[in-house]
Amino acid sequence: MNVGDALTKSSTTTVSSALEPAIVFDRVGVRYGTGRKTTVALADFTLRVAAGETVALLGPSGSGKSTALKALAGFVRPTSGAVRLAGRDVTDLSPAKRGIGVVVQSYALFPHMTVHGNVAFGLKAHRVPRREIDARVTEALEMVGMGAYAKRLPRELSGGQQQRVAIARALAIRPKVLLLDEPLAALDAQLRQSMLGELQQLRKALPDTAMLYVTHDQAEALALADRIAVMRDARLVDIDTAENLWQRPPSDFTAAFLGGANLVPCTVNHISGDAALVTAGTHTLRAKAPKPGVGKAAWAPDAAALLCVRPHTLTVGATTDRDALRATVRASVWRGATTRLRLAVDGLPDEIAADVPGHLAAELDSVVGVRFPDPAGVLIPAELGARPPATAAGSGVDETGPRA
Ligand code: ADP
Repeated sequence: MNVGDALTKSSTTTVSSALEPAIVFDRVGVRYGTGRKTTVALADFTLRVAAGETVALLGPSGSGKSTALKALAGFVRPTSGAVRLAGRDVTDLSPAKRGIGVVVQSYALFPHMTVHGNVAFGLKAHRVPRREIDARVTEALEMVGMGAYAKRLPRELSGGQQQRVAIARALAIRPKVLLLDEPLAALDAQLRQSMLGELQQLRKALPDTAMLYVTHDQAEALALADRIAVMRDARLVDIDTAENLWQRPPSDFTAAFLGGANLVPCTVNHISGDAALVTAGTHTLRAKAPKPGVGKAAWAPDAAALLCVRPHTLTVGATTDRDALRATVRASVWRGATTRLRLAVDGLPDEIAADVPGHLAAELDSVVGVRFPDPAGVLIPAELGARPPATAAGSGVDETGPRA
């Protein structure tokens, strides 16, 4: 289909309602390649983002996050489904006609053009009248604190400054929709922190813009997003506010990917409202049992489940503590403010992780008392095979946290 056809199609399918979400992915599928070499990069992907909302697409490398962004920006054509912007079907529209601001990890600045030239380029491509261009470039550069650098070439700027220019270029077209694909991934840790703060400021300065932010870094998702869409193997696994996903993870994958969690296999003994008694190994523990999400079975006695226990909620002390379970210290990794212990708890099948204050020394192979909070954690449906690969052997805690 050529662009002319696409425009006709788009205009006939326009729904002119202010209530339409800024972004809609409607059962989008994307495949790369053909025949035996086909990769399903996105499957049945449905997501709505309201004007003024920031949604983070969070997931491991290869889970389809960038492909979703490219499908929306028009850089790849969905093999099925549709993408809509403010109610308008743009599935077949060329990228430049979508009016979307895009920022990518590699900055993608033209090396031979000045900062001004780079920002102006996008405006020319969007056919902004010449007389308006200078003012729009200045406005965009000032938004990202780069007003004084207009005459420099990209190579005369630091990585963080280049990324700011790339953001200014995306903002110059005053987009209703801003897509950011791992924008901080190429920066060092310290710069990433300060850029996160700047992105928060930018978010505040653009209250009507819908943002889709791709990252494999949960800290970025937690810092910036109103809602987090967790992705795995080309599919959306869970979507909710960061707080809900953290407090009541709907799946073991999300529990482990967002914040790290001990996922202790258990059996439900008794349910009363949103409280449960469970058996884990030889122990009986109290657990929170939030109502399972739509389409998932309610908790039932004797059902297998996982008890999600966050490492920082465990207390490690002496074995004389009568409320503590006996455990042997299998590993102790000092991280400065905290120490991550791996504990083999008597009567539990798998080792668990506990984060204790950094000054607490725990010798390898020593026996300690570990106290679970009460309730010990939150129940998660046991969906076999849904855990991240790095954690499949036991608990969902990865020593290094989620990785790409
Ligand atoms: P993410 O952004 O989560 O890292 P991507 O969307 O880049 O994931 O990739 C999803 C899947 O599609 C991966 O298996 C990846 O290897 C594959 N893929 C991405 N781009 C292409 C391409 N141009 N050709 C073939 N396969 C691709």
